[in-house]
Amino acid sequence: MSGSPMKLPHLTQSNDIKAGILVGAQHNANSIEQTTVRQCFTISPLHQMINKYDRIIYLDMDGPLADFVNTALFRFVNSEAVVAHMISTWPAGSGLDGLYAMLGITQDEFWNEINQGGIDLWRNLLKHLWADELISLAEHFGDVLILSSPARGGNSASGKLLWLADKLPSYSRRFILTPKKFKHLLARPNDILIDDDPKTCGKWRDKGGAAILFPCAWNGHPDWLDPMVAVRRVLQKLPS
Ligand SMILES: [Mg+2]
Repeated sequence: MSGSPMKLPHLTQSNDIKAGILVGAQHNANSIEQTTVRQCFTISPLHQMINKYDRIIYLDMDGPLADFVNTALFRFVNSEAVVAHMISTWPAGSGLDGLYAMLGITQDEFWNEINQGGIDLWRNLLKHLWADELISLAEHFGDVLILSSPARGGNSASGKLLWLADKLPSYSRRFILTPKKFKHLLARPNDILIDDDPKTCGKWRDKGGAAILFPCAWNGHPDWLDPMVAVRRVLQKLPS
């Protein structure tokens, strides 16, 4: 659906985005034109919505489905070989801090450059080769919702919705966008989170949910070269 007529405003009210939970079942990409993200922060209807499902499999976007890291690195390093080398030698478990260190830049310098890419940077992230398999597998275990955290500023939130519309149209209205620090508030005992951030997975488990750390170079998971092996292994141990 690339080139769709869907138009999104440039969301610049970062405070609204940081405070809000944007729920795809109630507000699709077009509806952002009529409302601010803060007005979408409706936790009671949100809980009414998720309580309709016996088990929700929440899928993070960046890492499990979309390849942010490659795109980000290519804004700083114009060499496939160097990018591949940086990913393969990423200090285990260092997350984005490890990336800033490898590039020799500060966090602000990194995100300033990413923001220069605008909405299209996020809209055009490559879909991982395993993304469709991951979704099919997750659908076998429950109702799947996309659970993603926009980066600061409005480009990421807008671009992520457009990415879903382009690359996973059946999920273009099945998403929750919320800051990372709020993701765990959604956890229920029967739900499963698949996410590449160890802290988010830990907080989710602390709330009683099950979480699968999606293997990536930056989170130190030993299976990052073939992440679906680990995901399959863990999912199949869970009660269906
Ligand atoms: Mg992620």
